[in-house]
Amino acid sequence: MEVIRNHHQLQAYIERNKEMGKRIGFAPTMGALHQGHISLYQAARENNDLVVSSIFVNPTQFNNAEDLEKYPRTIEKDLQKLEASQLVDMVYLPSIEDIYPEKTLSKKYNFGGIENEMEGASRPGHFDGVGTVVEELFKQIKPDNAYFGEKDFQQLSIIRKLVQILNLPIKIHGVPIYREESGLAMSSRNERLNPELKDKAKIIYQVLQRIKEWAPSLSVQEIAHKVKEIFEQEKDMELEYITIADEENLQPTNAFSANKKYRAFIVVVVGGIRLIDNIALH
Ligand code: AMP
Repeated sequence: MEVIRNHHQLQAYIERNKEMGKRIGFAPTMGALHQGHISLYQAARENNDLVVSSIFVNPTQFNNAEDLEKYPRTIEKDLQKLEASQLVDMVYLPSIEDIYPEKTLSKKYNFGGIENEMEGASRPGHFDGVGTVVEELFKQIKPDNAYFGEKDFQQLSIIRKLVQILNLPIKIHGVPIYREESGLAMSSRNERLNPELKDKAKIIYQVLQRIKEWAPSLSVQEIAHKVKEIFEQEKDMELEYITIADEENLQPTNAFSANKKYRAFIVVVVGGIRLIDNIALH
């Protein structure tokens, strides 16, 4: 596996491989790699000649300085995992200047409304930060295919919109959520949970499964009420939001309609750690 640490070296690598007609599959990450990331590489391996990843903790997508500071950084371990997986041909580790040559600021995007709800409402500026870094990485890496996890389902929708807005010839693939045996969605943030909190956090997926059973016979309001009640009884856990939204446009709904597909989206803060998850209700 090649490790590339600046965009000049990257440019030479990409040009060389494009000239040879190699199809590039790309999965960006912020590191602290786990099996969820590996599942993106497995998907990429299936229809590309080269599998490329990147590790870059993108400051502009954090709206909270403490969250950015505490984000786990485990680069040596990550490189070992990537090597051991034998799925990745090249990993790009850009510096801040490789991505933000001038100021470390986001561009402003209009994603047609999907940026305003849920993560967009809870984390102002988050999706502008995501758009900015992914646009830059796409321009530097020029992938044919790019892979994003359904764990961050709203982000996946934003990226689909981004390539449409920018008219980039990149096919976006969503990869199913990879879970621990307990059902807890794998996340780099799980590293910050102690064993007791990690055990408690499995209730998040149990609740999502209950929602799937309840919908659509219970109303959206009844479901939200039940979920709030469950978390009110849990110590060390705070429900930030539970939202049921149309899977197509991510607009929250107040009532189920028969011909639409819905997803439940949840954020729970467990012992100060913000965990995100979602489930299809169809
Ligand atoms: P991150 O490093 O957390 O920014 O995630 C990088 C990519 O991995 C994103 O596309 C995430 O949606 C995806 N990802 C993270 N956790 C999981 C998971 N448990 N299952 C599937 N994809 C995931």
